Amino acid sequence: MKPTLIIGGGIVGLFSAYFLQKEGIEVTIIDRTDLKDNCSTGNAGMIVPSHIIPLAAPGMISKGIGWMFSSKSPFYIHPRLDYKLAQWCMLFFKAANEKQVKRSIPFLKNLSLLSKALYQEFKMEHPESAIALVEKGLMMAYQTDAVEKEEVEFAHLARKYGLEAEILTPEDIKKVEPNLELKARGAVLFPGDAHLDPGALYGFLKKYLEAKGVKFQYNTQVLGFEKAGQKVNAVLTDQGKIEAEKVLLCGGSWSGELAKMLGFSLPMMGGKGYSFIQENKPEISQATILTEMKVAVSPYGNQVRFGGTMEIAGTDQSINLNRVKGIFESINRYYPDFEAKFPDENQIWKGLRPCSPDGLPYIGLAPGYSNVLVGSGHSMMGISLAPATGKILAEIHQQKNTAIEIQGFEVGRFD
Ligand SMILES: Cc1cc2nc3c(=O)[nH]c(=O)nc-3n(C[C@H](O)[C@H](O)[C@H](O)COP(=O)(O)OP(=O)(O)OC[C@H]3O[C@@H](n4cnc5c(N)ncnc54)[C@H](O)[C@@H]3O)c2cc1C
Repeated sequence: MKPTLIIGGGIVGLFSAYFLQKEGIEVTIIDRTDLKDNCSTGNAGMIVPSHIIPLAAPGMISKGIGWMFSSKSPFYIHPRLDYKLAQWCMLFFKAANEKQVKRSIPFLKNLSLLSKALYQEFKMEHPESAIALVEKGLMMAYQTDAVEKEEVEFAHLARKYGLEAEILTPEDIKKVEPNLELKARGAVLFPGDAHLDPGALYGFLKKYLEAKGVKFQYNTQVLGFEKAGQKVNAVLTDQGKIEAEKVLLCGGSWSGELAKMLGFSLPMMGGKGYSFIQENKPEISQATILTEMKVAVSPYGNQVRFGGTMEIAGTDQSINLNRVKGIFESINRYYPDFEAKFPDENQIWKGLRPCSPDGLPYIGLAPGYSNVLVGSGHSMMGISLAPATGKILAEIHQQKNTAIEIQGFEVGRFD
């Protein structure tokens, strides 16, 4: 029997392998790197059922244009002459409307809630995993009138969709964050959100899958496919041909290139972001987003990770220190007493979020193929949504009904 090949060993590929091996499927993961580092290892690790609005939303365009003029802003599209970028921007603008956002909310919410439940199950099944799933919610802290209005409006919307949201005064914030000042005029706390250590999760999953017999083919780049009608029979790599029963495309920001080799369109851009770890002093207790600057703060006991910026950058992976400075300067703007130290360049982590133009992932069968599945485009929610994506792909692989409706994630929607 030929194996199912998963192209891409990021978190989506690993969780797909996890649920496939539970079904008794023979799996090989192919990755062009040694899997020491990708977008899934150093991110903020937030599990966010509260994030029911996709990135492409009304208001993002005017905000985005404002941010374009600051080298330290949280969102930036690198202007350049590039057909792929122009096409992606056009689709982004088209999707950023009320109707599309309203249609997306139930799909995103159900995917997120399924994922959160799967993380809880995962933690119970693998108490040894030390993924440190902290179920203390996520706080959106704000300093300005304008953002307060948006966040409070959003809290009401989230409640309308059945999610818990608490509006906190500065006095309430002091109780949540007792060890140091958080300079904010208020915050919204989403108690249903959580956070974890993405590196610990990633390392555990990889080891666990190896022990369960999942094969890893490292340093192997996929260059093409051997097709016959609606099927792919083999994957062509720089290390030779590998036969396949079925194929899963989980190539993160590079999934668009893989789709192109198969003759369908999967618009995708890398959304570059950075993070760095600091000694947590005085201790920050609560996972928080510093909303004006879109900086994520993930505390892990005596360490804390700060992450942010979204630079639509194709697949360029260079470090732009101005953007890192933007994250760094946010720390004392919100936590004036925190002992922040600018990180050395080798301590700055970077990752490319795989961004679809409408902010929704691609999950399901590839158009025109009966044995190719896609799990990609999760943008800033790949850690959050990976377990549910892996479970759904395993269900489709086994021709079972999926646990939730997935029409919103149709792979061929831009084909
Ligand atoms: C600063 C920052 C903070 C973030 N915070 C959060 C957060 O708090 N919560 C959250 O849910 N998400 C967060 N994210 C987003 C999350 O990290 C991503 O959505 C997720 O890691 C994407 O996983 P992936 O498996 O799709 O892709 P990746 O992790 O990029 O993996 C794709 C893999 O495919 C391989 N590959 C590609 N092409 C080929 C080829 N041709 N041949 C072989 N291999 C190939 C690559 O080498 C790579 O290893 C954050 C991201 C950043 C940058």
